[in-house]
Amino acid sequence: MRLLEYQAKELLRRSGVLTPEGVLARAENSYAPSVYPVVLKSQVPTGGRGKLGGVLVAENQKEYKEHLATLLQLKIKNHQPDGVLVEEALDIKHEYYIALRVNREARDIECMYSIHGGIDIESSRNTVATISCEKTDWRKIVATQLHIEHSTITEILDRLYECMVSNDLLLLEINPFIETSGGLFVCADAKVLVDDNARFRQPALPWHDEQSLKPLGGTIGVIANGAGMAMSTVDAIVAMNGAPANFLDIGGGTGKDVFVKQLADIAHLPHVTSIIINIFAGITRCDDIAKGIIAATEELPDLPPLFIRLEGTRRAEAVLLLKNAHIRVESDLAACVRKALRGTA
Ligand code: GDP
Ligand code: MN
Repeated sequence: MRLLEYQAKELLRRSGVLTPEGVLARAENSYAPSVYPVVLKSQVPTGGRGKLGGVLVAENQKEYKEHLATLLQLKIKNHQPDGVLVEEALDIKHEYYIALRVNREARDIECMYSIHGGIDIESSRNTVATISCEKTDWRKIVATQLHIEHSTITEILDRLYECMVSNDLLLLEINPFIETSGGLFVCADAKVLVDDNARFRQPALPWHDEQSLKPLGGTIGVIANGAGMAMSTVDAIVAMNGAPANFLDIGGGTGKDVFVKQLADIAHLPHVTSIIINIFAGITRCDDIAKGIIAATEELPDLPPLFIRLEGTRRAEAVLLLKNAHIRVESDLAACVRKALRGTA
C-alpha cells in the first residue's frame, strides 16, 4: 500500500523525524493559514507533482485561495486529489535524496542517497549511491558522502530506520531531504510503501484496498460491508430502476479516516446525486461507522444526501450518535433506495 504524503509524514513525525507542520485542506474555505508563505501540495498517490503543477507556493491569502481552488480540481496522472496539504514554506538551502528500502534478494534494508535531490532526481540517477544498512558504519559513510555533520545525520538516519522497521515499510523515500537556510534538516516530501502482508500487525495504519471502488456510471453511490451486501445493494437499486454509481465493499473494521476517504471518492464520481450506506455489522461496529459518517459530514461540505441502513453490532449506540448529529437512519434498504431515487432526505 502506498501512503499519501500527509499520512507518510505523520509516520515520520511519530518516529521523531522533522517534517513541516501541515494541515490537510479537503475543500475550499475549509482552512486558512495565518502565516505566509505557505506551500500547497496536491495529495495524490503519485510522484512528479512538482513538474505537473501539483506543488504551489502562496505568498498571501489571495494566492492561497486561488491555488487551493486550482489544486482541488486538478487531476494528476488521472488521480483526483484527496485534499491539499498546506505547510509553512521552507527556506531551502540544499536538496538531498535519501531513501531506505527492502532489498528482498539481499534480505536486508539498504540506504540510497544522493547529494543532489529534488524534482530532477531522475536525470541525476547516476549520482545515487546504495549501501546496505547491515554494514555497521553505513550512517558514517552516508554522512561523509553527503557532507553533513555526522551526529546530525546519524540521529536522523536512525529515526528513519526505526520508522521503516516499526511500520513494516518496503520503501521510505525522502526527496527532497532539505537543509534550510536556518541549518535545519527537514523531510519535505515522503514516499512510503507499506508491506501489505503486515496488515495484521499494523492495524493503526490507514489501510485502503487500492482498487476496491468500481465506478458504474450511475447516480446513486453505494457503500456496503461485504461483497454480498454491496452486490445486493446494487441489485436493489437496479430493481427499482435506479442507476448505481459504484460498487464498493469496505470490508470489516474500517476506521474513521478510511471511511471518510471512501465517501469522498464516491462523492467525487461524476454523476452522483445521493449515497446509500448499507451496513450489516458483525466485526464492523455500527458506532464506528456512525463516527465515520459524522466526520464525513463535517469534513466534506459538498457531500450529497446520505441514506443509511444500519443493522447489527452496536446499532442502538450508532443511531443515538447519528440522531444527536441530526442524521437520519432509515428503517430498511428499500426505504434507502426509494429516497435515494427521489434524491431527498
Ligand atoms: P514531487 O514532485 O511529487 O516529488 O513533490 P515534492 O514534494 O518533492 O515537491 C517538489 C519540489 O517542490 C521540491 O523538490 C521542492 O523544490 C519544492 N518544494 C516542496 N516543498 C517546498 C517548500 O516547503 N518550500 C519550497 N520553497 N519549496 C518546496
Ligand atoms: Mn518529491
